[in-house]
Amino acid sequence: MELYKLNISEARELLDRKELKASDLLDSIYKRIDDIEDKVKAFVTLTKEKAYQMAEVSQRIIDTGKSFPLSGIPMAIKDNMCTKGILTTCSSKILANFIPPYESTVTSRLGDKGYILLGKTNLDEFAMGSSTENSGFFTTKNPWDLERIPGGSSGGSAAAVAAGECIAALGSDTGGSIRQPASLCGVVGLKPTYGRVSRYGLVAFASSLDQIGTITKNVKDSAILMNVISGNDPLDSTSAPLPVPDFTKVLGHEIKGIKIGIPKEYFIEGMDKEVELSVKDAIKKLESLGAVPVEISLPHTEYAVATYYVLATSEASSNLARYDGVKYGFRAEGKDLMDMYMNTRAQGFGVEVKRRIMLGTFTLSSGYYDAYYKKAQQVRTLIKRDFDEAFKTVDVIVTPTSPTAAFKIGEKTEDPLQMYLSDIFTISVNLAGVPGISIPCGFTSNNLPIGLQLIGKHFDEETILKVSYAYEQSTEWHKRRPGI
Ligand code: GLN
Repeated sequence: MELYKLNISEARELLDRKELKASDLLDSIYKRIDDIEDKVKAFVTLTKEKAYQMAEVSQRIIDTGKSFPLSGIPMAIKDNMCTKGILTTCSSKILANFIPPYESTVTSRLGDKGYILLGKTNLDEFAMGSSTENSGFFTTKNPWDLERIPGGSSGGSAAAVAAGECIAALGSDTGGSIRQPASLCGVVGLKPTYGRVSRYGLVAFASSLDQIGTITKNVKDSAILMNVISGNDPLDSTSAPLPVPDFTKVLGHEIKGIKIGIPKEYFIEGMDKEVELSVKDAIKKLESLGAVPVEISLPHTEYAVATYYVLATSEASSNLARYDGVKYGFRAEGKDLMDMYMNTRAQGFGVEVKRRIMLGTFTLSSGYYDAYYKKAQQVRTLIKRDFDEAFKTVDVIVTPTSPTAAFKIGEKTEDPLQMYLSDIFTISVNLAGVPGISIPCGFTSNNLPIGLQLIGKHFDEETILKVSYAYEQSTEWHKRRPGI
């Protein structure tokens, strides 16, 4: 088997048994990148020199016989997480020259446990989008079909994992940006509970929704990474001061008697038939493993997309005010200060980012605040309460991750509302702050992956990991890889 095809636990075993050298694994992955990256275009920046240095350090630690969980594991990081001394662009022209003077907490935790940074992956500019077509640089292609989008905004990370251009990756998820691309690329994507993982060093999009999480080849790798990145961080006051369990412990436990809620609002018209069938089959599979399906209702679901786009754009308009050409990033010429500000922002931001800044500035303006922002906050509470109510009777909620499989490049770019609807099943999870995971559950007739979403209670990633693992172990979907 080609080494780049390994997952974290397989590579760990071979490295620890001295049957594999960290540098050989790295060679295989960079060779894979050389072979296919001009087709997939997952990376904004490759950090080859640094990667080999990190591999050398990791190898020395492995040689002592006391490796860390990620010693020698090559990973890709979404380019909105700050890496000290390494370009961090958010796929935006306004940050195209930004080299952070500090390290995000997640990458510093991965570093403490021995990971190797391969490079930074492409995204929709500032994580605003569902296809990577909003990247200020280029569109990433879906490795299952190069004419299609990989999903977004963490499309670079998901495509890199699916194509074997890394062993695992990190993404961020504000309204679905880990789970939807994972679903469309046939890999596993976990958005943890809001507060479970520090966002220090994550470039802010919508701070009350943003969460960092994992994109991996299987469920176990997700649990391994969660053990490393989770936990309170004094540098992020929104990170929860809660103990972190060993997330791998629950894998392999029985799921007999687990109640899985099936929300009736999630099986809607307009959903692709093949997606619907695969998800229904997956529910039957879970039932055969002993889970008990229960029909539930999340009555405010229909307001989720509208609520999200008021709140996310409001927060974005405020967060993105910092890009003014003065402190860091791109600066345009101007005849005076005001002119320089305006030129910088006009030239530095792409159309979707501008659309959202304008929308968010409008919803926060004094005349409209009550009608839009305040109203959306109230509806958000109702959406969260729907989940609280549902979780009184069920342990996990199961839904499709995305209403369709990967769509064609260009298919939705002219119609932002159509694009916004691709997150219809993932957005409520961010509004409620609960954890959600997407795992492969089938393929369409033209060989495109389909994803199943499992949603858990606040800080109960363990149950969704346990149920996902049980499903994964009894199916073969996660083993398929694109033919690229
Ligand atoms: N697609 C959604 C948006 O455009 C979600 C993005 C995300 O999760 N970062 O805002």
